[in-house]
Amino acid sequence: MQKKNIDKIMDILQKHYIDHPQPLVSRDKWEQIPKTPYTVLISCLLSLRTKDEITEESSIRLLEKYNTPQTMITLPKQTIQQLIYPVGFYKVKAKRIKDISKTIIETYNGKVPDSMQDLLSMKGIGRKTANIVMVYGHNNTNHLPIDTHCHRIPNRLGWISTKTPGETETELKKILPKKHWKVFNHLFVTFGQTICTPISPHCNTCPVKSYCKQKNVKKHR
Ligand code: SF4
Repeated sequence: MQKKNIDKIMDILQKHYIDHPQPLVSRDKWEQIPKTPYTVLISCLLSLRTKDEITEESSIRLLEKYNTPQTMITLPKQTIQQLIYPVGFYKVKAKRIKDISKTIIETYNGKVPDSMQDLLSMKGIGRKTANIVMVYGHNNTNHLPIDTHCHRIPNRLGWISTKTPGETETELKKILPKKHWKVFNHLFVTFGQTICTPISPHCNTCPVKSYCKQKNVKKHR
């Protein structure tokens, strides 16, 4: 079996990005707003297709005052839209936030459910968001949120050979030591946004190049 050097790669990347700001959802301490499963869920919904800085500013504007499903449903949809603008798809997201808040109150007694099945049953919550809520909202470290970067990069490194983020989640859980699970998502998202980019990755300046199999990398810089 080929050596994967997982611990070495994780160690190098953690040191490389030690001063890089983490996205709001994965930070342990939140300053302006209370960190709860509900605020993590709403901030994660705002983050989809949106830059980290915009997500953070919009999350604070919305969640500073309206940080429970009960207060959120008192807001007209247009007010939510104004508070979260300019996140991507802000009109769709405003509707989703209201609908999801209503479901949480009516079906889950006002509390964000702590089961994947229940989270996934709500319209607008996909597997990545549900896993993020489990890890960063409910502090359940048995989950591994996978997005496009977390799927692409372990395949390039030669750790796994998978076709979908769902398969990647299953396979990575078998080989990634548990101590790395909590940092894996934000570390690989940052790595994927800055060096191991989707098209033409920056292999020449990559800190883990000597451990990478560069699988399916046809063009790089
Ligand atoms: S060497 Fe290239 S493909 Fe491999 S991890 Fe680094 S940037 Fe990505």
